[in-house]
Formats: sequence, structure tokens, C-alpha cells
Amino acid sequence: MSKKNVAVIPGDGIGPEVIKATLEVLEQAAPGEFDFQEVAMGGNAIDKYGEPLPEFSLKTCQNSQATLLGAVGGAKWDNQPPENRPEKGLLKLRAGLKVFANIRPAKIFASLASACPLRKDIAEKGIDFIIIRELIGGIYFGKHETFKTSENERAARDVMEYSESEIRRIAHVAFKTAMSRRKIVTSVDKANVLTTSRLWREIVEDVSKEYPEVKLNHLYVDNASMQLIKIPSDFDVIVTENMFGDILSDEASQITGSIGMIPSASLGENNCGLYEPIHGSAPDIAGQDKANPIGTILAGAMMLRYSFNMNKEADKIENAVDKVLTDGFRTADIYTEGQGLKLISGSQMKNEIIKAVKHA
Ligand code: NAD
Repeated sequence: MSKKNVAVIPGDGIGPEVIKATLEVLEQAAPGEFDFQEVAMGGNAIDKYGEPLPEFSLKTCQNSQATLLGAVGGAKWDNQPPENRPEKGLLKLRAGLKVFANIRPAKIFASLASACPLRKDIAEKGIDFIIIRELIGGIYFGKHETFKTSENERAARDVMEYSESEIRRIAHVAFKTAMSRRKIVTSVDKANVLTTSRLWREIVEDVSKEYPEVKLNHLYVDNASMQLIKIPSDFDVIVTENMFGDILSDEASQITGSIGMIPSASLGENNCGLYEPIHGSAPDIAGQDKANPIGTILAGAMMLRYSFNMNKEADKIENAVDKVLTDGFRTADIYTEGQGLKLISGSQMKNEIIKAVKHA
């Protein structure tokens, strides 16, 4: 049986720590199934090759069945010219893999309800929604420029543009996802101000006609940011454009606990997905064995599910994470004193999850 090819990008800061943990967990859940190939990207690639995503790195990812990414970036590379910053590598990777749909689950683990910063009565209603963010269009990919308006004055502009087909394909992902869940789609835009949003709303309405069982709501992004903390239990599938999705999904991550807990999958037409935690390289805790590896480990489980249809193995990993949390093990970011919890390091968390997978 040939092994499944997975490109692995450890990246910078805590990236290599959380990736190492995830590869060990994947090996425990599906022994001998994967051929992992390490790929240079981010600040480390700038140091070694002068650019954040060398062409050969992108090629390896494009030729793999899936790509697993830790995180990139750090203060050391903050003074790079904008086109050579680590984050540019990330945008180039997403565009190069043509992954247009970013899927971020926001689900509260019952054992972590106390880490939810919302009022108890709100958290207790349950939080389980998915944000589907358009990933390779909109303002992050439009023309960026700084220009002179007079001798002494500069101005800058970033162009937000969406085509009908870009909106249509992400809307289909949202409605299909909703069909396997509670059948509610909330489309988030700023149609009272933005022309792109008005087109967005029109196309989403049009696509919704193909999914008569799914209930469609529209919210302006400012209202959506309020409703997410007021009545999170009402949401099932949220679909939105790139920048709004970037902001709302970070808000959602805080509702469900720590940024270190949340995975994401980015999918294209052919399921050649990119899987990563939603956090960055966390330079403040890098190299101290404090990083919570759960977000990346759950991204590994999403990879099993979405790219390889290995649902049994994905379940094993997700159940193992649930068990370890229920048993009271916590990394510092999700630890609360005085509740009888056990504070452990990132590698100890990984070991506990491996033990739980073994006995699953
Ligand atoms: P960050 O997500 O790296 O860190 C924010 C805070 O969350 C920090 O206090 C950090 O210690 C904590 N945190 C993050 N992940 C954690 C984990 N797994 N366990 C425990 N605590 C965790 O965001 P930032 O500080 O804004 O950015 C740091 C660097 O990461 C920057 O260079 C930024 O550009 C980059 N970044 C990269 C990505 C990516 O690679 N996808 C995403 C966001 C930011």
C-alpha cells in the first residue's frame, strides 16, 4: 500500500513544537500511513533562501495530498519589505494551493466551559458553529499601493474585489456544510456600505435556492460581531469574505477557550487541503514547552477527515483530546487555578493525548 504524501511546514516560533507533537499523534492514530516531507517556509526560509516561500517549497506542497502547517513569523522578520514578510509566504501558499474555503469550527468542549469568557447562562446553551471564510480573494489579494497626492502628502489604498464565481463557490461550501448540520447559514457582509457586499448578498441568495432545506440569514459584520457573544448558540454555519472572516474567527476562538485549541482546514476544488492551527508563532512562549499543541493536533484530525476520509482515526484523536481535557490536564493557556486541574507542559499534553489514542 502506498503511503499518503503530506507536506509538513514547521515554520517559526512555536510552529516546530506543535508540529512535532502532531506528527507523533498522527503516527499513533494511523501507524505507517504517512510519508511526511518537511518544507521550508516563513522566517526560517527567509534566513536560508532569502524568501518566505521558495518555489521548490510551494511545488512540494502542490505535489502532496495535503499540507500541514505550524505557524510562521516573528519580530526578527518584521522589518522585511512587505513583499518578503513571512505572512506573504502564507498568502502565496494559499493562492498556490488554490484553497479558497477556510473552515474553522468553534465548538466548546464541555470540560472547558469554565474557560469561556461569556456569562455562564450563555455558555451553557452550547456553542457549536463553523465559520467558512473566503480565503483567496477580497482585500487581502487586491491591489495594495501607497502613492503621492501632492508634494507633501501620501495616501494608500487596498482594493477589495469579488467576482460572482468566487462568491458562488464559497456559498456552495457553506450550504453543503449546513446540510450535514443544523441547516442554518448566516451570511455576513457590510451590504449597507460596500458594493462587493451587495453582490455577495445577491449571489448567496441565488445559491440558496439550490438548498431549499437550509434557512439563510444575513447579518452586517458589526452586528455579527455582537451577536456572536450575545447568542452564540444560535449560529450553525457562518459564511463571509476574507477580512471579515479573519476578524470574526479570532473572536470565535476566544469564545470557545484559547486560541491554542482551534484547528482550521482550507480546501480547494480537489480536497488537496491545507491544515493549520489558527494561532500564530507565539514568539513570547516559543522554546519553553508551554505551547498548547491541541489546535494543531485537531488540524491533523481534520486532515484525516477531509483529505483522506479516515473518519475512524480522526474520531480517535478528537475523542482522545476530549478525554485528556475531561481528565483535567491543562496547558497554561487553558488552566484555571483552584479547580483541581493539572497544569502540564506542551509535550506532556502531547504524551497524554498519545496515551489516550493508544487506549481508544
Ligand atoms: P499569536 O497567535 O502567535 O499569539 C497570540 C497570543 O496567544 C500570545 O500570547 C501567545 O502566547 C498565545 N498563543 C498562541 N498560540 C498558542 C498556543 N498554541 N498555546 C498557548 N498560547 C498560545 O499571535 P501574534 O502574537 O499576533 O503573532 C505572533 C507572530 O505570528 C507574528 O509574527 C504574526 O505575524 C504571526 N502569525 C502567524 C500566523 C500563521 O502562521 N498562520 C497567524 C497569526 C499570526
